[in-house]
Amino acid sequence: MSYMIGLKCRECGRAYPKEVIFVCEYCFGSIEVDYDYDAIRRVLTKEAIARRPESLWRYRELLPIEGDPAVGLSSGFTPFFRSERLAERLGVEELYIKDDSVSHPTLSFKDRVVSIALTRAKEFGFDTVACASTGNLANSVAALSARAGFHRYIFIPSDLEMGKIIGSLIYRPTLVAVEGTYDDVNRLCAEIGSKYPWAFVNINIRPYYAEGSKTYGYEVLEQLGWRAPQHIVVPCAGGSLITKINKAIKEFKLLGLIDPDAHVKLYASQATGCAPIVNTIKERSDIVKPVKPNTIAKSLAIGNPADGYYATKTALESGGWGESVSDEEIIDAMRLLAETEGVFTETAGGVTLAVAKKLIEQGVIPRDESIVVCITGNGLKTQEPLLSRLGKPVRIKPTLASFESTLGEQLAGVPTKRRA
Ligand SMILES: *Cc1c(COP(=O)(O)O)cnc(C)c1O
Ligand SMILES: [Zn+2]
Repeated sequence: MSYMIGLKCRECGRAYPKEVIFVCEYCFGSIEVDYDYDAIRRVLTKEAIARRPESLWRYRELLPIEGDPAVGLSSGFTPFFRSERLAERLGVEELYIKDDSVSHPTLSFKDRVVSIALTRAKEFGFDTVACASTGNLANSVAALSARAGFHRYIFIPSDLEMGKIIGSLIYRPTLVAVEGTYDDVNRLCAEIGSKYPWAFVNINIRPYYAEGSKTYGYEVLEQLGWRAPQHIVVPCAGGSLITKINKAIKEFKLLGLIDPDAHVKLYASQATGCAPIVNTIKERSDIVKPVKPNTIAKSLAIGNPADGYYATKTALESGGWGESVSDEEIIDAMRLLAETEGVFTETAGGVTLAVAKKLIEQGVIPRDESIVVCITGNGLKTQEPLLSRLGKPVRIKPTLASFESTLGEQLAGVPTKRRA
């Protein structure tokens, strides 16, 4: 049973059948999935959801598939927890971390969008899938398509981190490293996609793919006890995640799963070296000016974001804002999250936390209100910028004497066991 009615243009509202359509042929607006919310309201209760397995498919009535879930059956329902030590360091009362750094199977929130996209690609009868990626999408498409048995072509900029390259190659896709930026890769993929009959997850089946990001939002609301936080700080690359978290909140209100009067402010986070969305928010403009990326946050390095316009609108209309941070601030934030909460996030998570910290210090986010920080990727994939900054382990001979003489001062005053 599917509750997906069809597709519709986000701009002119024109309706389309639920096929492989991604731009409105009348106004070139982007295309979105439409659902029968009245029917969903009758079946999708809190109790029904709570009884289901802990994966992103527990919200399946709100996901754009026709039959049964076929790919990514173990993805989603990642940890969500209240922060104590980080909250204290930031000087705030109520802080939560939503942690997709441990997403199954490829340690980033992209497993959510790819689970949906590949399930839908199967329904459409595609035998080959492809994507243009800043790294995490490549890993997820490579892994999930291996298990689902697709042929796969994956396109990345040639300067990605080793963790992202190995994290794709291991699954044996055809991995194509393009000499250029992500925006060059994406342009090339649009051209390839118009020639070859492949499902480009983030291009021709993007309306379905993008819906997967809503599950990040649903989980935050459910895991907070069917309640909305007052502030959510979100990393932005193409700008889809922030708009889909907003859609998730709207849908849960509409379905009566959370307080319909809840007000959530959304904040866009980017690196200063690639901040087209944040720049547009600060100018309160409608026009996203493309930039040439230069940042260690490579997973967010999209200079011409597909959903930049909607991301800007979403942040401003929610009453939120946007901020950007330097590479130095990104690394400091990665270390802060690790040393206070034991979470090793990638550079994108460093961006989000550094932006949250900045907005709190600026007084934009009040210290006594509830705040969620979105952690979307894993630090093991972006080790390069840390290599020269974390120092080295203390090296000793395998003896107690070497241990004590090397640590020296550090052990002075450390209690030892009383001898019997
Ligand atoms: C892709 C990505 C994002 C941003 O996603 P968009 O929907 O393109 O804005 C955030 N964090 C990580 C780690 C990503 O890989
Ligand atoms: Zn239109």
